[in-house]
Amino acid sequence: MRDWKDILSPAVQNVPPSGIRRFFDIAAEMDDVISLGVGEPDFVTPWTIRESCVYGLEQGYTSYTANRGMPELRDEIARHYADRYGLDYDGGEDVLVTVGVSEALDLALRAILAPGDEVLIPEPCYVSYKACTSLAGGVPVPVPAKIENEFRITPDDLARHLTARTKALLIGYPNNPTGAVMGRKDLLAVARFAEEHDLIVISDEIYGDLTYGDEEHICFASLPGMKERTILLNGFSKAYAMTGWRIGYAMGNPAVIAAMTKIHQYTMLCAPITAQVAAIEALRRGEKYMKKMVAEYDRRRGYIYRGLTEIGLRCFEPRGAFYIFPDITSTGLTSEEFAEQLLTSEHVALVPGSAFGECGEGYVRCSYATALDQIGEALARIENFVKKRCKTA
Ligand code: PLP
Repeated sequence: MRDWKDILSPAVQNVPPSGIRRFFDIAAEMDDVISLGVGEPDFVTPWTIRESCVYGLEQGYTSYTANRGMPELRDEIARHYADRYGLDYDGGEDVLVTVGVSEALDLALRAILAPGDEVLIPEPCYVSYKACTSLAGGVPVPVPAKIENEFRITPDDLARHLTARTKALLIGYPNNPTGAVMGRKDLLAVARFAEEHDLIVISDEIYGDLTYGDEEHICFASLPGMKERTILLNGFSKAYAMTGWRIGYAMGNPAVIAAMTKIHQYTMLCAPITAQVAAIEALRRGEKYMKKMVAEYDRRRGYIYRGLTEIGLRCFEPRGAFYIFPDITSTGLTSEEFAEQLLTSEHVALVPGSAFGECGEGYVRCSYATALDQIGEALARIENFVKKRCKTA
């Protein structure tokens, strides 16, 4: 038989494995590791949401649902966007329930990309954006965002990477891994750029409920003229501590939602009914629990920001999501070396910034979806490591 290397699809072979997981494999073999690595709430899903699922099972909710998802859930999602952002989505035609934002992202890219189409992706960015673009036959085009501009992007940044093949722009704010947000003025400028160059905008707003201080989340589709050209992605994993339920959704023009549904019906059929029942409850009664979790993330955000700054690491103060992205260049290490040595010597796991794109080099990502006392201990260990390192550097 031929070697599997000659059999596997070149598209798959060319996509590197996620730079996040490698460190968790090392960490899994160690005792006493404090993980600031995973992008996952440390809270369990609020009880009312779990209970609705238990009740649903008692009632016999164990079947497939409509491909697009349960009508009650789609209507609830549309209502949520009407209440929160004044957007008029139709639960019947404009909403598709998916297996997490992960599936929604993949479907959106596969539905719009022809081979060779380019997608502008501000970087540092979530690890799946570039990989899913390539797997869908497109070409990811990173647009570096700099700490000097609080990791935001401008039309000038985008224009430098625009070509005749540019079809779409894929944005994710609040941002994983930097914690950056884009305010109304920033996004209006991006919207004008999208209009001028007739780009589709895929907006991943999975952290939209996680903003801090007086920062208000701006839904990209709510900007003038943008609903028509935006594929809006969101889900329940982060805001409602529901990562394991695998539930999310996409919203947009009925034509693109129908195209995405076509792929979804052949590949996934539908999202799990148990998770859909729970998601309805999350939207109906979950908000107060979500707000409590967000308040706790905010407390941790202040604590870790002060702690890392006092250690002497330059940090952008995050405004959303639950990540902070300190600059570690003062240690003389690359981000991979920093993450690996910190893990082996101090047993603290975090993610090298290079996992989020080339311009993430020189940074590491720390998640503060971790209990405060754990963050305190991690900070003490990081300080120890940085002091030792700076002495020898
Ligand atoms: N988008 C971003 C920016 C993320 O950080 C993540 C998970 O970390 C996802 C999407 C995937 O979310 P889901 O659990 O809904 O598939």
